[in-house]
Amino acid sequence: MARPPAGGNPVDQLRRRVIRNRSRRSRSGRIPENLLFMPDSTQPDLASAASLPDYAVSISGLTKVYGGQNGRPEKQALTSVDLRVPRGAFFGLLGPNGAGKSTMINIMAGLVNKTSGTVKLWDFDIDRDERRARCAIGVVPQELNLDPFFSPRETLEVQAGLYGVPKSERRTDEILAAVDLTEKADAYARTLSGGMRRRLLIAKAMVHSPPILVLDEPTAGVDVELRQTLWRTIREMNARGTTILLTTHYLEEAEELCDEIAIINHGKVVACDKTDALLKQLDNKTVVLLLSEALTEIPEAMRRFEPRQPTPTQLEITYRPSSTAMLDILQTAQGCHLPIADIVTEEVDLEDIFLQLTRSAP
Ligand code: ADP
Ligand code: MG
Repeated sequence: MARPPAGGNPVDQLRRRVIRNRSRRSRSGRIPENLLFMPDSTQPDLASAASLPDYAVSISGLTKVYGGQNGRPEKQALTSVDLRVPRGAFFGLLGPNGAGKSTMINIMAGLVNKTSGTVKLWDFDIDRDERRARCAIGVVPQELNLDPFFSPRETLEVQAGLYGVPKSERRTDEILAAVDLTEKADAYARTLSGGMRRRLLIAKAMVHSPPILVLDEPTAGVDVELRQTLWRTIREMNARGTTILLTTHYLEEAEELCDEIAIINHGKVVACDKTDALLKQLDNKTVVLLLSEALTEIPEAMRRFEPRQPTPTQLEITYRPSSTAMLDILQTAQGCHLPIADIVTEEVDLEDIFLQLTRSAP
């Protein structure tokens, strides 16, 4: 058996390995109460903060420039990112490939050094209070970086050791049961299906009962059934108090799971709001009818669209594409014999981003 690595960054120690997912039937295990963060018991260090923080994650002015190596140019992956994840939230960080999601997660996990800015996890600054900040999060990385020669039980034991969880406080069996891996507890990781490996990674992130669980694209390339199982597991953890930060490039996933969403594109946060508010914003278009003659009165039939008249020769209508068709507006205008000279539609950047980058099904 390979020996557990010693010293240094615990997460860094384990070898990275990309393993393709395969679909497998799986059941969802319930998460036992005592696996979840208990402010007054499981993590005395974190609980000793005078009060629970309002924000599980607080990021401000975070910038990352990857140094150009071997003649490659520098790459600015994050630019002055501000982000606050409320305690207890199910928060989605949504953005296309290359947006900077993993960079942000890896900075939180201590795997990547930031260029500037501050990051606080459970109110602990990752520079000034590194140990407690590290204890506050469990990270499920994008890549399936499991050691193929470790069994799930060994994997969790090694991880618990790296986090300094005393033997008497380890709950390896309970965690394995929670992610439905009891039957595979002693099998080599390389014999596990893709879905089992994903669940083992979640288990691994839970060994130190962190109050914040960070999942980097947990369902990328995962089949529909497994995705549902993973969603259930994560939802349940959130319902019992764990703050969840999940990155995804699927709008549907963020919409379905998250109560708050930040959209990141080219290393910048371009939107951040409650999911409902964000979706309302997206389902909004404005059309301006430019008229060849001044309109003294808005025709009765047009009133249901609640038009505005910025100038006598303009009718401006804001509508929801989900419930009103543009064609309906135009046909009604035509029916009223409005002298339409031109039609202008307003650009909606946010929607463009969504449609271009996130509407494609997994
Ligand atoms: P995401 O997770 O949203 O897909 P990443 O954070 O992985 O995005 O990448 C953001 C940008 O930084 C991309 O342009 C990527 O090519 C670049 N990048 C990521 N890691 C490195 C690295 N180690 N060195 C140089 N550039 C990198
Ligand atoms: Mg990524």
